[in-house]
Amino acid sequence: MGGAHKRGNRKGRRHLPAVLAVLAVLMVTAACAVNPVTHQSQLSLMSEQQEIATGQKLYPLYTQMSYGLFQDPDLQAYVKRIGQRLAAVSHRPQVPYDFNVVNSSDLNAYALPGGKISITRGLVAKMQNEAQLAAVLGHEIGHVAALHPTSSYTRQVLGGLFTSVGSLVLQTAGVPGGDLISQAGLLATNLTLMKYSRDQEREADELGMEYMVRAGYNPAGFVQSMAILMDERDREPSQLESFFSSHPLTTERVAAANRRLERYGTQLRTPQALRRETFRRKTAYLRQVEPAYELMDQAKEALGNKRTGEALHLLRQATSRAPREALLWVYRAVAEDLEDHEGQALSAARKAVRLYPDLYHARYVAGVITFKAEAHRESLEHLQAADRLVPDQPSVTFYQGRNWEAMGQRDRAARAYYAVLKKVQKGPMAQYCYRRLVQWGYIRR
Ligand SMILES: [Zn+2]
Repeated sequence: MGGAHKRGNRKGRRHLPAVLAVLAVLMVTAACAVNPVTHQSQLSLMSEQQEIATGQKLYPLYTQMSYGLFQDPDLQAYVKRIGQRLAAVSHRPQVPYDFNVVNSSDLNAYALPGGKISITRGLVAKMQNEAQLAAVLGHEIGHVAALHPTSSYTRQVLGGLFTSVGSLVLQTAGVPGGDLISQAGLLATNLTLMKYSRDQEREADELGMEYMVRAGYNPAGFVQSMAILMDERDREPSQLESFFSSHPLTTERVAAANRRLERYGTQLRTPQALRRETFRRKTAYLRQVEPAYELMDQAKEALGNKRTGEALHLLRQATSRAPREALLWVYRAVAEDLEDHEGQALSAARKAVRLYPDLYHARYVAGVITFKAEAHRESLEHLQAADRLVPDQPSVTFYQGRNWEAMGQRDRAARAYYAVLKKVQKGPMAQYCYRRLVQWGYIRR
């Protein structure tokens, strides 16, 4: 009991400086800003410059965490155009907004500080027209315009973000040799960023619909997008978990949106202003590959329940239906590896990297599989790329060390193992590093 108590104290002390540093940052930067929507002054946790810098830093990381970009440049450009059109008529047009479609199957959309906004492939796949897409982007722009991501309500979440960037982004307990799938956030990543209040949600809904109308969309698209989310919540609650935890959607919100709709005249309430045709054309490829991603999602579930044979079967089908999708090859490589098909695992991992060299998950999985195949130079190349995409992940550093160890470069391996131990103190990966460092005389037992 005494031991546990002491450990608790030590841990508390170790975390104290970090906590103080964060508080200091928050205190220095907390200032009054004039809310561009209400024109009232409110407490803001950072200057606009800091807000933009934070968003710029987090955007690429969160894009990776959401399984990278959906690889359709034409669709990406289309979504950016719609987003910019809405941002231009918002209360904060001067923010350097950006918009992308990330490859997560979850139904989600999120805004980072500084106007960096992402929507998932899963959500776009459920939509039928451009007005629905504009509604979701408009809602997120509404949060940015009304300074919600930097308001005091989100203080704790943002404080956490500052400390966790780059260190806990894809937290894993990494297991040497085994269980590739539970590493690198391959099974699930929790993307809850912001937790907005009911009032903030209501305000974002109001602004979102207003921006849609200003940009010439049929505001009925707003209510339609809410209906899609409500329907899916009943059918597939797990894929909406992160969405609802940051944007709680209630029947009240839907009713309020319906009432708001009545305020707008009939001029825009036309089928043309829903812009269905362009949307269908621009999302044709996405809808074509979506069934393959549904197979991937089933395979992920099977992998989570250790039914690897079934998962492999599904992933082989998925990759043959949509052979250009890197993420499908990533999972196929993992399943082939679990079934001990070394050659197949290698070629699937290399294919994933060829299709999307800047996808963290592809680089990480390729790094591990080529390490196992003793292709150490190639493995180090993949792991270095993974480290560039999402810095300082302990499991990446660990496999870099394993390669150097296998190549007889003990000093470099020891440095890597030491870096791993600074981040992870428990589990097989930490044990491996510790054992080696003791064995080689770098640390005394
Ligand atoms: Zn929201």
